[in-house]
Amino acid sequence: MMFFSLWFVPFFHFHPIFMLVSLFLYFLPAVLARHRSDFTAIFLLNLFAGWTFIGWIIALVWALSSERQGPPQPVAAPPPQPPAEGSFFCTACGKPCAAGARFCSSCGAALPATQR
Ligand SMILES: [Zn+2]
Repeated sequence: MMFFSLWFVPFFHFHPIFMLVSLFLYFLPAVLARHRSDFTAIFLLNLFAGWTFIGWIIALVWALSSERQGPPQPVAAPPPQPPAEGSFFCTACGKPCAAGARFCSSCGAALPATQR
């Protein structure tokens, strides 16, 4: 029994940590790519080609490269503004006037009521 334990324990002391570190290093590219849209592709490359050093390097570079975010995001276009609200222009002086104002705040010219 004593002989068995002495033979067995060093193996278990060493093994789990070594395995965890090795696994982490091996799957480091996939870990780095976990939030990417092409994570699956990187993971598969990592899994199947990672044991070749060059495959691992490719997966790592891929994981670190900048990605175009999956589906093209609509550029945050502001909704089309109604033309009047607070910004139509005085016909006399060309300065912007408050919506609904009867007279230009800059030059005092009477504003046409049709401006809105
Ligand atoms: Zn004016």
